[in-house]
Amino acid sequence: MPPINLGIVGVGKIVRDQHLPSIAKSAEFNLVATASRHGTVDGVPAYKSIEEMLDAVPSVDAVSLCMPPQYRFEAAHTALSAGKHVFLEKPPGATLSEVADLQATAAAKGVSLFASWHSRYAPAVEPAKAFLASTQIKSVQVIWKEDVRHWHPNQAWIWQAGGLGVFDPGINALSIVTHILPRSAFITAATLEFPENCDAPIAAELHFKDAANMPIHAVFDWRQTGKQTWDIVAETEAGTMVLAEGGAKLSINGELVFSEPEQEYPALYCRFAEIIKSGTSDVDIAPLRHVADAFLLGKRKVVEAFFD
Ligand code: NAP
Repeated sequence: MPPINLGIVGVGKIVRDQHLPSIAKSAEFNLVATASRHGTVDGVPAYKSIEEMLDAVPSVDAVSLCMPPQYRFEAAHTALSAGKHVFLEKPPGATLSEVADLQATAAAKGVSLFASWHSRYAPAVEPAKAFLASTQIKSVQVIWKEDVRHWHPNQAWIWQAGGLGVFDPGINALSIVTHILPRSAFITAATLEFPENCDAPIAAELHFKDAANMPIHAVFDWRQTGKQTWDIVAETEAGTMVLAEGGAKLSINGELVFSEPEQEYPALYCRFAEIIKSGTSDVDIAPLRHVADAFLLGKRKVVEAFFD
């Protein structure tokens, strides 16, 4: 199969950090155009909007949509309606309903829709899943604490409604948890902390259980300075499992059993090529559904104003 001609929409931080290096190394994708109001990529034809790009470069087969989630639906609908395959950055949309609408459009047009969850491709995630499948889980603790000023400087959209606030990183934890646990779980109680000048939370505490009453406790906090923590800890019949550093390292009973360099975005592009070739879509909304449930069920606590 010849390379898939790709257009990127929303050239910003994640495109520069991850998409461009991964596409450059991929034999399956050829970057032929970008659409962004300000961002451009050296040597690649640049357009201001997806409509302009699709008109000017009809050979585009697929698009990666990398703008903030609140502004993604229109572009996704435009691309799918034009018969293009679509890669959605995480989270796949601002609402569950719009993602369902995109799934229906992709199916009707016979093109592939990929709701990407990069953290699921962290190296120790599959070994963690295999370990948990081999034992009985007693409880799970998720600790996702990072410094928003370091990771999201000057990003106004994350503080606006639909920007998800601390769930922007927290949904990465949820994408791993929903992948590695053998049974689905649901939120029973939540507290969301909103800075008094923001429409999205800076911290959240979530309690889940599954049908067997197995408890899951998650703490997301964006006010962490110093050491950053992205850990999932499971107490099991076979001992304590720690999936650390965002899914990079797996320890069982204090012994490091798996650690490899991360290749999340190259793996995402392999998966995108695979679903295009097989004529399928890959859209799992479970992580976004938990976030929606947290907003449905969560108590709202107002905390001190946040200034970047
Ligand atoms: P970003 O740099 O703030 O935004 C990406 C680009 O989207 C911007 O450069 C901008 O390009 C465009 N954009 C911004 N606001 C827009 C608006 N109102 N309407 C249309 N386009 C707009 O964000 P990012 O960090 O790359 O994150 C984008 C997505 O990737 C998010 O969903 C995020 O969760 C996900 N992601 C981010 C990271 C990370 O480390 N940053 C990691 C994994 C996933 P123009 O001004 O040129 O149009």
